[in-house]
Amino acid sequence: MAEIKYKRILLKLSGEAFKGATGYGIDIPTVRSIAHEIKHICLMGVEVAIVVGGGNIWRGATAAKEGIDRVSADYAGMLATIINALTLQDALEREGIVTRTQSALAVQQVAEPYIRRRAIRHLEKGRVVIFAGGTGNPYMTTDTAAALRAIEIEANVLLMAKNKVDGVYTADPKKHPEATLFQHLTHMEAINKRLQVMDATALSLCLDNKLPIIVFDLQSSESLVSAISGQPIGTLISSES
Ligand code: UDP
Repeated sequence: MAEIKYKRILLKLSGEAFKGATGYGIDIPTVRSIAHEIKHICLMGVEVAIVVGGGNIWRGATAAKEGIDRVSADYAGMLATIINALTLQDALEREGIVTRTQSALAVQQVAEPYIRRRAIRHLEKGRVVIFAGGTGNPYMTTDTAAALRAIEIEANVLLMAKNKVDGVYTADPKKHPEATLFQHLTHMEAINKRLQVMDATALSLCLDNKLPIIVFDLQSSESLVSAISGQPIGTLISSES
């Protein structure tokens, strides 16, 4: 079995990851296969926290362009992340992994409130913790929530799972086939080059707190295991040049 390099991780799953081949919403077999991959690393002894996005269901900024009040649209987006979180929790529990969902918005019938010390306790007991509701504030993203929660729980790495993109490229590889993959970047390079890794707030939080980030393709086989065991995969963004 591969050695663990990162004992405690924060995995960011964007809403896109839940869509599978469907254009919108949640594809249950896709969620189950993600849960299966997560189970592998749990069994290796990794402490796993997850931040889920909601873009497969709702994006505040897009809804606002169609005339919905931005703040209400953002709260709807945060609720969308809770739907994804509950689906993922179900899939993980079907795999036999004890899971707790903590939400930044109060939804006490379905999830615990976000309590940092309690989240850490769950992780220490080997439970997967899913953070739902983003940061709980409008005008923010779940990337920022991922950076923030990773720092709060003292995760050793932030894993940014992408869909069919295996890291950070010089340009969008779907539009520019000549684009090349960065194997390593510093946080500052990623900010200065304005690369599409995550939003600037999230990236600067990682920079300030020297939190390494691995951007990788969740769909390529065993990619999570490779990432947690420190094998070269995707793009590593760290403070060392
Ligand atoms: N959102 C928000 N505050 C947060 C996190 C999310 O207002 O702290 C809203 C925002 O409207 C966003 C939506 O929730 O568009 C879904 O989150 P995001 O776009 O980050 O999801 P992803 O792109 O990861 O699927």
